[in-house]
Amino acid sequence: MNKSPQIWLCGLALSLGAAFAAPGPLPVMNRSDVVFMYETGRQTYEDYGATVLAWGGKPTAKSLEQARGLKFFGSVGMVTEFGRYYERFPQTYEQGLCRGLDGRPYKVPWLTDLQHQGIPFWWCCTRQPLFRQYISERVVETVKAGADGVHIDDHLGTAGALWTGGCFCDRCVEGFHDYLKTLPASELARQGIQDPAGLNYRTVLQAWLAQKRGRKPQEHPLWSQWRIYQLQGAARFMEELRALAARTAGHAVPIGANAGLLWGNHLNDFKALDLFSAEIEHHAAERRFSDAPLVAYRLADAVGRPLASTASGWDWACIKEHNLPGLVQGWIALSYAAGHGLMVPNRQWCYTPEKGTHWYAGPKEKFAPLYQFVRQHRNLFDDYRNYADLTVVFSSRTFDRNPPRIIAACGELAAANVSYCIALSGDEVVDHPLKADDLRLSPRLVVIEPQDLSEADRELLRGETNLQRYASIKQAIAVITPAARVKAPAAVRVLPRVKPGSAIIHLANWAYDAGHDSVPPLNNVRLDLDLEALGVAGATEAAWFSPGAQPLNLPVTNGSVTVPALGLWTVVEIRAPRAER
Ligand SMILES: [Zn+2]
Repeated sequence: MNKSPQIWLCGLALSLGAAFAAPGPLPVMNRSDVVFMYETGRQTYEDYGATVLAWGGKPTAKSLEQARGLKFFGSVGMVTEFGRYYERFPQTYEQGLCRGLDGRPYKVPWLTDLQHQGIPFWWCCTRQPLFRQYISERVVETVKAGADGVHIDDHLGTAGALWTGGCFCDRCVEGFHDYLKTLPASELARQGIQDPAGLNYRTVLQAWLAQKRGRKPQEHPLWSQWRIYQLQGAARFMEELRALAARTAGHAVPIGANAGLLWGNHLNDFKALDLFSAEIEHHAAERRFSDAPLVAYRLADAVGRPLASTASGWDWACIKEHNLPGLVQGWIALSYAAGHGLMVPNRQWCYTPEKGTHWYAGPKEKFAPLYQFVRQHRNLFDDYRNYADLTVVFSSRTFDRNPPRIIAACGELAAANVSYCIALSGDEVVDHPLKADDLRLSPRLVVIEPQDLSEADRELLRGETNLQRYASIKQAIAVITPAARVKAPAAVRVLPRVKPGSAIIHLANWAYDAGHDSVPPLNNVRLDLDLEALGVAGATEAAWFSPGAQPLNLPVTNGSVTVPALGLWTVVEIRAPRAER
């Protein structure tokens, strides 16, 4: 049968998209990159040494000129662009709205204060053809306008509403049939489903909720399958958008997304992404430095993507309300010490239910010197990887079930200065089977909730007989002597990074004093190092770098280095003797 030219062209375009889709992530970032979230003026970019714009708008001649030399990502929002979507389809926009169990549209919970033409910011459904058309057009116009990459905000689309109990529009309900048909007969029988194509999950759930007061949709027996269905669908749409961007440009286009890695569920589409440019909870309200963001950086490492982070809207609201730039300085230091980077806090979105959306303008004199320090010493950052004393193995299923539990366990390691990496085992949502290399990043490992791992991953673990194993995080902390240890009268975090022939030890002063919004400086901080483990056996000299200070050479004596002063953050470089490199 002859294909119509239209169908043939469509087929060609699809195959071209597939051809441009790289098998792995595109190399879009260096460890020393300085990333801006939003567009700003030329002078501000230069003051911070900016190299990447992660959440720019649709490029214009003016914005491209202002950002010349920067990698420019144009942003497309799956949840935040209701006004623009309405203007594109003013007569038919209602077709694309999400629907609750009652069939009515619902608002985006953190945009309840926004309206367009008197219409609330409704959540729109990324399964609805009209809204998919809108998002696709926005990706195409962003690429055609000259963006180097595309950032997708609220990349989960409809699946981002799972916690609120949405979406139950006709498309979502009908699409579930095809998903159910792929399940094993045993699972269908277990769920009591005889005819997947005849199941209307909206009415099933309504009836179940009506049977007993206080029930929640997320407690229904079929909800776990519904969740997988929605998250897999969101990932497929991101893959389509990535291919669309590539077809439009005629070459592979890097894609970033606001993947809030610590909130669970956000790794569903990591294979469609080249970087995470994302909101990460920093717990500003606790008025102390948090170890939680380190888990996000280690998760990003685990799936081989860089993380350009920012804090959450409520973190920034707290920073603004209490004027705490010193807390933010610690976030910047931790991010680079972890091998990633906090996006420049030049202008930050703040949110509280009481105040709604408002903005924080960061003091340049407090933040720019830290970013300039990174740019001036980029050779201390680029090409290094995390040195791990311990590999923490867990399934994304375990993490998504209870993220705070894993974050707390990893926090104990961070507090004990046991440097860790994460080996993430995938599940139905996250396509990431373990590889032997994931387990060999350190000589020791601990597995959290091994019953959640796939049989293949458990088999792989059984085969790794040369690794020292621990029954628990607590046991690991009690037994392991970290390769980099610190002696100081106050809390200091030690983060070692390595490349062949060289080790970098980041020291972050963790004794944040909320009353003064700063850290008391420390003198003569002693580092004891396992030089052999760090790949710098026999080293006798180190170099000390600190923001605002002249670099200094320091002796290494029997594996020990004394750092003369530690303000907020300092970096010690140790090189193997020349013959060893
Ligand atoms: Zn829907």
